[in-house]
Amino acid sequence: MASPPGKAAQNEVFDASKQAKAPSHLLRNPPLPLPAVRIALVSPAVGYGLFAARDLGPDELIFHERPLLTALFNEKFSADRALVLSQVAAYRAALAAHRTREVTAVAFPALAARFAVAPVGFEEAVQVLEGGMGMNLVGDGGGGEGRQFAGSRVTRKEYEAYTGCLKVSGSVSEADAREAVLDFFKHYAFQVPPNPNGGGSSTGSGGGGGSAMVGAASTREACIYLLGSLINHCCTPAPASSSSTSSSSSPSASCPSSLTGGGKNKDRSGQQQPGPNCSWRIGPSGLAHFVKPRHICVQARRAIREGEQLTWDYGKREKGFVCECDTCRDGLMGGLGSCNVL
Ligand SMILES: [Zn+2]
Repeated sequence: MASPPGKAAQNEVFDASKQAKAPSHLLRNPPLPLPAVRIALVSPAVGYGLFAARDLGPDELIFHERPLLTALFNEKFSADRALVLSQVAAYRAALAAHRTREVTAVAFPALAARFAVAPVGFEEAVQVLEGGMGMNLVGDGGGGEGRQFAGSRVTRKEYEAYTGCLKVSGSVSEADAREAVLDFFKHYAFQVPPNPNGGGSSTGSGGGGGSAMVGAASTREACIYLLGSLINHCCTPAPASSSSTSSSSSPSASCPSSLTGGGKNKDRSGQQQPGPNCSWRIGPSGLAHFVKPRHICVQARRAIREGEQLTWDYGKREKGFVCECDTCRDGLMGGLGSCNVL
């Protein structure tokens, strides 16, 4: 993926499979044990987003998080029946387990509705949104679990407007369930990088805005996260120079669907740097030894102001979606008026 102008150094990626040890200037410090993110609703169409609860520094690791659920996935054979059944089973298990039932329904109410689970009422939901959503955050080893989470700014009116738009299925056939979960995994899951050593250090990818899903030609585990999966998409702007050579290819291309768009990157002072402001890693990838395999670690690509929405570039595009992210809205996709990255 292209990097925004001037950001190349920040997005330098260490390949743990080629070097035993990361250069010290690339080693990351654990997230600060201070509230860093909160949830808010972007709009009924976009759903939730994750917002900075304080100013975040360039390169700062913002939080890391255990998966909510894990299942098998293959980008090329996404509809493979055995894989999809693994996803349905993982989702049903999360919906059934006492520990994760409510948080699963509140975090992903559209999927729950497709499983005939009506949206949780606001009084119950707000308890989950203000506390439960941070339950998978990992502390720094000093008992700081969940402390990066600052709760929710979702109001009753917003929540009811959002959940009121959802159509709750009356009955759910196995085919419905498979289709719903496949849609969900395509949009919300992060594929776990292969682990060549069979040990603890898997090679992370996705730093610099690429999607963890891209290039996944084989079956791997894919994880859904409570907070990480709620971060919305923002297209990477075309380079400022006129070197966007192949951008003549397809102005009709469009962006990923429902969970995307609406990435409001403006802070309250109105200042804005275009493009996604975060990247992620799955697992330690030689840079952050405190991150465990399957855990996602979210990192700031630049300084982020309190109140700014966290965004990243999913790096994948789908037919039939008109992207509403700030990059597209501000015409920063090389004059095409919409993203053209495939
Ligand atoms: Zn866009």
